Amino acid sequence: MSVRVRIAPSPTGDPHVGTAYMALFNLAFARQQGGAFVLRVEDTDRARFQADSEQQVYDTLRWLGLDWDEGPDKGGPYAPYRQSERLETYRPYAEQLIEAGHAYLCWCSGERLTAMREDQQKRKVPTGYDRLCHGKTEQERAELPGFSPNPVVRMLVPENPPLHFVDLVRGEVAAPRPDDQVLLKADGFPTYHLAVVVDDHLMGITHVVRGEEWISSTPKHLLLFDWLGWERPQFAHMPLLRNGDKSKISKRKNPAARLSWFVEQGYLPEALLNFLGLLGYSLPEADKEVFTFAEMSSSFDWGRVNTVGPVFDLDKLAWLNGQYLRELPQAELVRRVLPYLATAGLVDAPATPAQLAAVEGLAPLIHTRIALLSEAADLSRFLLVDEDAFTVDPAAAAKALDGAAGAVLLAAAEALSAVQDWQTEPVQAALDAALLEDGLGLKRKKAYAPIRVAVTGSHISPPLPESMALLGKERTLRRLRAAADGL
Ligand code: GLU
Repeated sequence: MSVRVRIAPSPTGDPHVGTAYMALFNLAFARQQGGAFVLRVEDTDRARFQADSEQQVYDTLRWLGLDWDEGPDKGGPYAPYRQSERLETYRPYAEQLIEAGHAYLCWCSGERLTAMREDQQKRKVPTGYDRLCHGKTEQERAELPGFSPNPVVRMLVPENPPLHFVDLVRGEVAAPRPDDQVLLKADGFPTYHLAVVVDDHLMGITHVVRGEEWISSTPKHLLLFDWLGWERPQFAHMPLLRNGDKSKISKRKNPAARLSWFVEQGYLPEALLNFLGLLGYSLPEADKEVFTFAEMSSSFDWGRVNTVGPVFDLDKLAWLNGQYLRELPQAELVRRVLPYLATAGLVDAPATPAQLAAVEGLAPLIHTRIALLSEAADLSRFLLVDEDAFTVDPAAAAKALDGAAGAVLLAAAEALSAVQDWQTEPVQAALDAALLEDGLGLKRKKAYAPIRVAVTGSHISPPLPESMALLGKERTLRRLRAAADGL
C-alpha cells in the first residue's frame, strides 16, 4: 500500500511554527516513500475559526517550499479537504456507533457538566463524565436535573481500552485512560476526535505523524478505528518544540512561534527548513548540521527522529541563516531583498529598471554585511531614497558632525569635485590625499566618520568609496556641502 500522510491544521490564527515542523516531517517521509502528502483543513471549531488563517497556512508553507499533493486549494481524489464541507460525512458513523452500543446520547447541560467537574476536583477524584445519561431514554433523563434538550453523542469507553500502542518515534507508548469523549456536538458538528478518524480512514492515511500533545488522544482514536472495523494507521508522535526553559512555544509568549515572524524578519526559508529539520532529526553523518530537504528526505528514518523536546535555539538559526545567505548567488540575493526594500518604501513593487540596477550595484556591498534580508533596507536607504527625502540620522549627526567636521567635509568636497573618472579607486585616492597624512593629517577612521554620516545619513554603511561611486558625483557633493552648511 502506498504511503499517504497528512497535516491537519486548524485555521485558528496566524500559523504556528509547529505546523511547518509537522509538515516538514510528513513531507520528508512521503517523498522518501514515493507517497502522497495531504493538507486537510480541520475547521470544525467555529468558535476559534479565523477566515484568513487558511490562506496564511498556504502562503507560509509554500514560502518554505513544503508543498502538498492534495488539499482544499488543489483538490484530489478524496475532496473536499475542508472538514466544514464534509459535515454530512460524520453523523452516520456516530449513529452506527450508537447502534452498536459503542456510543450513547448525552443530554447533560453545560452547567451540570461544570458542576460535576468542580465537584470531582474538590474531591480529588479523576475528572471525567459520570455516565448519568448512559442507558437512559430521553424521557427518563428529562426527569433528572441538568437536562438539555439538544444531546451530544459520547463514546462509551470500555473497561479495557487499548492504552498501549507502538509509535514509530517512541516505540511502545502507554497513554492514560480516556474519558467518554464527545463525538458529535449538540450543533451536529463532529469533534476533532470523530472527524480525524473518519477522515484519516476515508482519505487512506497510512501514517499519522503529529505532535506529542495528541498521544493522550490516541486510545480514543484506536477505539474508533477498531469499532468501525477499519485498519489502524501507524502513528508517529513528534516531540514538541520547546523554549530554553522547556516550556511549550506559544504565540502569546514567543514571537518566533508565528511562522510569519520569520518571513517578516528576513530569514531565508531554506535556513528555517534546515533548522526545523535539525531540531527533530539527525542525518546518518551525525555532525552534519547544514543539510537540504532532499538530503533529509532521502536518508529519512524514524529511528533518527529525536524523542526529546528540542530547544528552539534562535542563535543556531541565525548561524544557519548566515551559512545560506553567503552561498546565495548575487542575482538571487537581489531577488530576495527586493520585497523587503519594497516594504521599507525604498523601491516599487515591482521595482523599476533604475531601482533594480541600483540594487544590483548594492548587492556585492551588502552581501556580507547583513544577517537577515530585512537588514538590507537600512544599508540601502542612502542610495535608494529620493534625494528630497534624504535625511541624516540625528544621533549619528550628534556624534560625528561636530565643529571640527566642517573642514573635513569641505576638504572632501573640494577633492572629490576634481575627480573626473567617478569610480571607487579614484574616489578613494582623492579622499585619502585630501584627508590623510598628505592632506589634513587625520587618521582614516577620524576622517571618514563625518563623511560617512553626511553622505549615507548613518554611521553604519557599506564601504564609503564604493557607496559614493554608486551614489554618483552630484549627489555625493550635494550631501557633503549640505552637511557642512548645516554645522
Ligand atoms: N487539527 C489538529 C491540530 O490542529 C490536528 C492534529 C492531528 O494531526 O491529528 O493540531
